[in-house]
Amino acid sequence: MIDIKGITKSFGTLQVLKGIDLHIGKGEMVSIVGPSGAGKTTLLQIMGTLDRPDSGRIVIDGVDVGALGASRMAAFRNRHIGFVFQFHQLLPEFTAMENIMIPAYIAGTSNRDAARRAGELLDFMGLSHRAAHKPNELSGGEKQRVAVARALVNSPAVILADEPSGSLDTKNREELYQLFFELRDKFAQTFVIVTHDEQLAALTDRTVKMRDGLLDNAPAEGNINVNSFETI
Ligand code: ADP
Repeated sequence: MIDIKGITKSFGTLQVLKGIDLHIGKGEMVSIVGPSGAGKTTLLQIMGTLDRPDSGRIVIDGVDVGALGASRMAAFRNRHIGFVFQFHQLLPEFTAMENIMIPAYIAGTSNRDAARRAGELLDFMGLSHRAAHKPNELSGGEKQRVAVARALVNSPAVILADEPSGSLDTKNREELYQLFFELRDKFAQTFVIVTHDEQLAALTDRTVKMRDGLLDNAPAEGNINVNSFETI
């Protein structure tokens, strides 16, 4: 699903990625861990086509994304990749429903189909009763679930999450994990999750460690390799 070869990236004189190779299969849930400043977010941004590498190749769902021009890359991103950030980044002036519908609009989905899909996702998230609420009327956990629904609205092949549980308390954190596992099991969604959260990392299929711009691609020990949250 994601094939990365020889990715490098510098900001000025600082080389942040020093040659990254990573293959992630369809339906795989991979966590990326490592100290602050290791380059995890930069790698995720490049995987998400929000930034371009200086060199190297990245193929997502069979598409060599580096070969796409800016507008085709943006269209590819909107259709194939869903993002979940630590701070949900919902648009404050829009309702939960509208926030979820926006990427569908951008992808050219009709108003009716976007509303139907957003409604299904709100239902799946147990948030139907919050559809008309604006972000400041939602709890932290609800906001993050709306953000996950928004990431899913175009049924992307890949979900990229950067510290998705970072702003949540324990209860909401556990609900978020459960949701991710349900999505992976139900839709074979591929997940790449940058996290400091060891509990979440241990539950993913594979953890890759990053340090100083390089990945340690040796299989990490300690992952439980469960398909369901119930086993923890
Ligand atoms: P991590 O996610 O592992 O904490 P980051 O990818 O956020 O690491 O950052 C790696 C390094 O790159 C840090 O030293 C950070 O300051 C630097 N960096 C990240 N983005 C930029 C940018 N847009 N401009 C300059 N430096 C950046």
